[in-house]
Amino acid sequence: RQPLLAVGGARAATVLWELGYGGRVVLLGAAEHPPYERPPLSKGYLLGDDPFEKALVHPLGWYAEHDVDLRLGVTATGLDTDAHVLTTSAGDLTYERLLLATGAEPRVLDVAEEADVPVAYLRTLEDSDRLRAAFGDGKRIAVVGGGWIGLEVAAAARTAGSDVTVFEMEDLPLLRVLGPTVAEVIADLHREHGVDLRLGTEVTVQDLEGADLVVAGIGVRPRVDLAHDGGLDVDDGVLVDSRLRTSVPSVLAVGDIANHAHPRLGRRIRVEHWDTAIKQGKVAAHNLAGGDEEYEEMPYFFTDQYDLGMEYVGRASAEDEVVVHGSLEDREFRAYWLSDGDVVAAMHVNDWDASDVIKEAVESGELPDEEA
Ligand code: FAD
Repeated sequence: RQPLLAVGGARAATVLWELGYGGRVVLLGAAEHPPYERPPLSKGYLLGDDPFEKALVHPLGWYAEHDVDLRLGVTATGLDTDAHVLTTSAGDLTYERLLLATGAEPRVLDVAEEADVPVAYLRTLEDSDRLRAAFGDGKRIAVVGGGWIGLEVAAAARTAGSDVTVFEMEDLPLLRVLGPTVAEVIADLHREHGVDLRLGTEVTVQDLEGADLVVAGIGVRPRVDLAHDGGLDVDDGVLVDSRLRTSVPSVLAVGDIANHAHPRLGRRIRVEHWDTAIKQGKVAAHNLAGGDEEYEEMPYFFTDQYDLGMEYVGRASAEDEVVVHGSLEDREFRAYWLSDGDVVAAMHVNDWDASDVIKEAVESGELPDEEA
């Protein structure tokens, strides 16, 4: 029997084993490390609190023990979906079904590349090691991009004693994601911790001169080269149907590359979240093994910055009305974003009892009673 192949996608391989899938499963990864999770790279691991082993999806021995043929340091370079052949740096592989989970790569910041300063991005273990080594008392760290990654890096760099400047061209960090009311809370948090926030202007080469390290966190590009090569439909990621199938039914795609026809939202979304990559991996595994499941989870995300923990469910736009329960001042609250009266997204800040409450609000679309 021809193998079932996954490029990336450790979670899908796990579920195939759990399902008792009897065929061969080959898992390819370009990196030399066993599959690992990225959220710690800008949090506990970057802070030096957690060892790398904690970020591993499974210990290295797990794969062989569970009949998953893990091939590390192997890059897939070409795809022929008619012949069912994947070209790789270690030779050709034929497959019966293929899962693409090639993820995303950081967008390059031209202005930083032009400046005479070291420039770093954050996607891999090695990137995180490089950042941690550059942080320290009095080190001047310039962060370009006030999104989740940029802000987590700023928090870690400040915690390590660095002088941190964050450049964000919007008037507030995370303005488009959170809207002004909640984005202001995040801005204040960083100011109070001594971050120099430079907002509302585009960063220049001069701004960056003199930094010991510039960290660019200006977003990612989905890695769609293989999908292009295989002639799959691509438009801001690989187009997949509600069951995560690409335009060629024997090929599925999940995670950061998947531009998914969301059955409950009734539109396409591409989500760059850890939780989505895992849960789509599970549904894809069922479908690779002959199942017929739709993926209908709402996007879910968490972040930690200083002593603040937050969870966010759904997807809001900056125009949506926001209703806050709790105290913005004390940074302990729940925020609900409403579109035409329906809750489309919700977040809690330092209020872990509210985890289920915000999820239910987004599921039902109904604003919960504050007292309840
Ligand atoms: P990836 O994790 O990028 O994995 C893709 C894998 O495929 C890589 O290992 C790559 O080497 C391999 N690959 C690519 N092309 C090839 C090829 N041609 N041949 C062989 N192998 C290939 N999300 C959250 O929800 N919460 C967070 O707090 C959070 N924090 C994050 C912090 C950091 C620093 C980063 C970088 C991301 C964070 N994310 C977070 C986002 C989350 O990690 C991603 O959404 C998730 O990793 C996507 O998983 P994926 O499997 O699609 O891709």
